Amino acid sequence: MASDILELRWSVYSDGYELIESDPPDNWPKDSPNFSIKPKKPTGNITEYSVVDNPGLFRTFIELIKQNPGGYCDTDKALSFASKYGLLVSRNGEENLIDWTHSSETMFRAFDIWDAAKNRNMKLLKHYIELKEEQIDLYIPMYPNPRDTEYGFSLLKSHDSLIKWPKNEIEAAYHIIPFLMEKNLGDSLNAGIFTNEYNTGTEFRVKPKNLISALWLQFGLSVSRIEIFRKCEDIDCSTYFDNRKKKRRYEKRFCSSTCRKRSERRNKAK
Ligand SMILES: [Zn+2]
Repeated sequence: MASDILELRWSVYSDGYELIESDPPDNWPKDSPNFSIKPKKPTGNITEYSVVDNPGLFRTFIELIKQNPGGYCDTDKALSFASKYGLLVSRNGEENLIDWTHSSETMFRAFDIWDAAKNRNMKLLKHYIELKEEQIDLYIPMYPNPRDTEYGFSLLKSHDSLIKWPKNEIEAAYHIIPFLMEKNLGDSLNAGIFTNEYNTGTEFRVKPKNLISALWLQFGLSVSRIEIFRKCEDIDCSTYFDNRKKKRRYEKRFCSSTCRKRSERRNKAK
């Protein structure tokens, strides 16, 4: 399984996280409301978890912006995300929610573009992508639209990835997605040969340096093969899980038998 080669243990502060009012980044309109997110007790206890155990976590992250695209991320959801999974870039410190908003927005749009390409939704694709003679232009609306422009960039015909020029917006979408990944991952992946956990051999591993890189990689892996993630139908859980491991149809609806039983009890009680 491809995600076996991924490895990241990330930290969460046991005492939780809080929002504090903060200035927007430089060159943003000064009146843009903004918060930072930080651990309540930066000297408190930390627990660690393995990001790879939750291969659909990027979809939970996308939910921060999904109901309000182009706007500010949902602060309650951001807080609960941090309390469960930690900060995006640093293990401690303070992170600007405008940066969270942009990361969630970009990933949501990348997913939307992929989904539109898969479903051959030309109308939606043309909303995002303009295929020109010598370049592909991408437009994504971004909070708070600094300088009244959308976030956009152009993929030039001379770029390495454009071995074969796309015929239409669907093909162009499959060039845009790796390009968005490349821009967002930067140099935050550490790939190489590492000692295995039993000291009995070596193996190839990709180790993202932080949570946001791991999320981009999860997104990339999930769209680079058949969609396998599904949201647990137990309303108290709603975690995305890898449903290839489940054999029976009723099992595929829940991440665990605990959730299945809890959900069955709830339905009976109705
Ligand atoms: Zn569940």
